[in-house]
Amino acid sequence: SNVDDNEMQFIKMHEYLTDLYHHVLMHTKEGETALEYLEDRGFTPEIIRREKIGIAPSMKDFTKNALTEKGFSLEMAYQAGLISRNEEAFTYYDRFSSRIMIPILNHQGYNVGYTARSLDGREPKYLNTPETAIFQKRRLLYNLNDARKAIRSHDEVILMEGHLDIVKVKMTAVQNVVGLMGTALSDEHIRMLHRLASNVTLMFDGDGAGQNAQLSLGETLLEAGLDVFIISLPKGMDPDEYIEQKGCEAFEDLVRSEKRHYIHFKAEHLLEESMNNDMAFSTNLKTLTGHMKFVKDEVIRERLIQHISQLYKIDAKSLGQNIPAPAKKSN
Ligand code: ATP
Ligand code: MN
Ligand code: MN
Ligand code: MN
Repeated sequence: SNVDDNEMQFIKMHEYLTDLYHHVLMHTKEGETALEYLEDRGFTPEIIRREKIGIAPSMKDFTKNALTEKGFSLEMAYQAGLISRNEEAFTYYDRFSSRIMIPILNHQGYNVGYTARSLDGREPKYLNTPETAIFQKRRLLYNLNDARKAIRSHDEVILMEGHLDIVKVKMTAVQNVVGLMGTALSDEHIRMLHRLASNVTLMFDGDGAGQNAQLSLGETLLEAGLDVFIISLPKGMDPDEYIEQKGCEAFEDLVRSEKRHYIHFKAEHLLEESMNNDMAFSTNLKTLTGHMKFVKDEVIRERLIQHISQLYKIDAKSLGQNIPAPAKKSN
């Protein structure tokens, strides 16, 4: 995709503001509380610098005034999602204030938006850039530009929920991590993932929401022809908290050693219900064998049949006979 003049101007505004927000965080009184907060959460000055994390201070016109002084058009800044507009008085005011600003770069490395975490407990906890000409959630994978090389060399992309999870993980040896902007997975995302790697690993928060997201996104990705794996975190933990509590090495070990195939994960998820309910047993097994037709790798199929037959205490051979013919290569 080519970048036109308007879009380049949007990007320049972002780059200017990102440097400014970062400066305020690192070197001014307005940034003190936020910097302390980030350091308490285990984010080092190095990672804060590398990601150019910043702060939009607690003022109504900080961003607006900074852009004006620099000669940027407020109308354009509004179109870029950097400031808000009062539609009656036609006046502009800051969209982001009292928030930690996490820059979002697109796949080419251009700064096209922010996700901004509230510092004072005000809702919403995270406020993102709205949809603009350069910030389209359905086309963005957070951290893709930095992760691309590691994704290619591992033939694996690890998908996480939270932006700060990804920032924290970047402090470890695990570099092939990306995030969605929210939990909606678009057709564009699926095409991007397909081009990047054949394996997608989901590592969402260890709560009900994370588990449900893994179940539903995993199914979509599997049916799209990707090999899908799950790394389950202990109850109530997200990747950031895991690293804080157990350390980088424990996290690296977890990523290396605890990867269940999506179907194995789902078989375990459905097991309890299946064991106490004979009707569910049958429908759940059908669901699982239905998924199996998307698994093209013979070794993985064989292994999954073993897992399921052991978990569900049924004969592996008859289970194998119930699997529909493999799906043709889909894209
Ligand atoms: P933190 O550790 O800073 O509390 P988190 O990343 O663990 O944040 P979660 O509540 O687990 O936050 O949410 C996961 C992700 O979902 C967030 O990183 C953010 O991308 C998105 N998210 C959460 N709440 C909102 C919201 N109110 N609006 C938009 N996105 C949100
Ligand atoms: Mn969560
Ligand atoms: Mn968190
Ligand atoms: Mn979380």
